[in-house]
Amino acid sequence: MMKRIFCILLCIGMILVAAASADQEAEEQLMKEIGAFEITAEQRVLASTNVAGYPVLDAGRGNPNWINTQTRYAFTRIMNFAVGECELTFHEGSMAGQAKKEGIGERFDAAMDPNDPTDAFLIAAVDYCVMTLGMDKDSLIKELVDAVIGDYYPDPSRCLPHTEAILNAFLQATLFDGAELSDQTGIFPTEGGSAAMVYIFEALSHNRLLKAGDTIAIATPIFTPYMQIPSVKDYGLVSIDVSSSAGDNWDIAEAELAKLEDPSVKAFFLVNPSNPASHALSDKTLERLVQVIEKNPDLIILTDDVYGTFAQDFKSVYAILPGNTILVYSFSKLYGVTGWRVGLIAMNEHNVCDRLLAELPEEDKAYLRAEYSIVTTDPDSMPFLDRVVADSRSIGLYHTSGLSTPSQVFMDLLALSHLVYEDAGLEDPYIRLANDTVHERYAALMSALGLIPDESEANAQYYTLVDVYALAEANYGTEFLQWLQTEKTEIDFLNDLAARKGVVLMYGPGFNAPEGTVRISLANLNTEDYVEIARRLLELFDEYYAESEIGLADAA
Ligand SMILES: *Cc1c(COP(=O)(O)O)cnc(C)c1O
Repeated sequence: MMKRIFCILLCIGMILVAAASADQEAEEQLMKEIGAFEITAEQRVLASTNVAGYPVLDAGRGNPNWINTQTRYAFTRIMNFAVGECELTFHEGSMAGQAKKEGIGERFDAAMDPNDPTDAFLIAAVDYCVMTLGMDKDSLIKELVDAVIGDYYPDPSRCLPHTEAILNAFLQATLFDGAELSDQTGIFPTEGGSAAMVYIFEALSHNRLLKAGDTIAIATPIFTPYMQIPSVKDYGLVSIDVSSSAGDNWDIAEAELAKLEDPSVKAFFLVNPSNPASHALSDKTLERLVQVIEKNPDLIILTDDVYGTFAQDFKSVYAILPGNTILVYSFSKLYGVTGWRVGLIAMNEHNVCDRLLAELPEEDKAYLRAEYSIVTTDPDSMPFLDRVVADSRSIGLYHTSGLSTPSQVFMDLLALSHLVYEDAGLEDPYIRLANDTVHERYAALMSALGLIPDESEANAQYYTLVDVYALAEANYGTEFLQWLQTEKTEIDFLNDLAARKGVVLMYGPGFNAPEGTVRISLANLNTEDYVEIARRLLELFDEYYAESEIGLADAA
């Protein structure tokens, strides 16, 4: 961490030097390396004292400005019930005992008031678990009570048993598009999708499934911090881009997909629907990936589906290639729970990583046998997913690994808030609202910019990439575009937008998106703010146009 902060400071220092020497190209290269997030931090400072004195409009971050209320009420309700259960055992001052299982289901029923909306949800959620998932009611309630109280280490450390079944049902309902995989999928809840990614890379590297010098393919443009993980020097991975572009509606073109057929490509890493382009892969591309695996059967696919519920009729790569795919999901965005840090890793019980572990050279096996022998009597057959869990605590502290149990209860509630509707064959009104919210903002932004919205099912509309060069040309002509491209770097433009107009957008090339693109998040401002962002952006163009004196030259 310190090293990273130091690097960022060093980079910023180097950027200042580069700017002074007016070496634009070198500057932009460095900007790409430090990443879009660090650049935005500077623009936030500029925007806070903007010349126009406008209120700051920061459409940089993807943190949503909505929250789910039902699950928060339900969490406190379960906590209240659970403390009461502990007090039944013994109670003196602020001290109570541990909850007892005997009769706990009946006491839950007696405590819940069907006329209270929160209790009604909990009743429906428990009914679903018992009737549809076939759980024993006392076991379920006891797990929820112990977990929310948090007086036991997570056991098993990877995932609480009822939680695993509930999360599996959620993934199947939201991301698998009908593929029945819940009974063959193992889940490891993690501190958000970010921790999931770090743990996976760590375990792939430690288990010698990815070695220094190996090639991994990355679907670009992509969420910047993810581009930076594989370049972590310790892993020594070589990365190649599998790119998509606006011309292909941000789907991956055939020539790019073909790169994955090369067996020297060991892993393929994607965000689907993507960030920043916010588009899901088409069925055609998913089918093409099946052919890719026929040619390159050892390919490990790592997919981050955090935005899956925002695209229509979404289908995860995991649903079509369960044996080759490691799935990462996070509740952060949909439910407004970024501060909770709740995400997960899902893997099939028959997966390429376990097969590759069995095929490792004897020398590697001997090394790993010694590594894991401190936590299991049969290290050779320890599944990769359990190794991810062990590695998340440097193996030695495996027995205290796993996500905090109250966080696992919260994940149960988030998942169940959807599953009770799914089970009744009804549309989930919360997911509908989340989708409608970003769609309304997107439509307002596009209309105010005079651009045609992309209403395709693949468009999650959580972010959008806007091509400011195309916008400049459409509004003021080619001569103005040329002026803009010669006189201003894209960073200059973003700095001007912040310093003069108080608007913060993100630098597209920082995500490996084309020069001239900016990422606008539709998650964190209100509809009218997006109209205002468009107005201020066009106002800056007006000022630029006057400065360029192209209009004057025409008049003369
Ligand atoms: C926001 C985001 C996440 C969520 O990360 P958390 O650590 O769960 O908050 C995951 N992946 C991508 C691509 C994201 O943009």
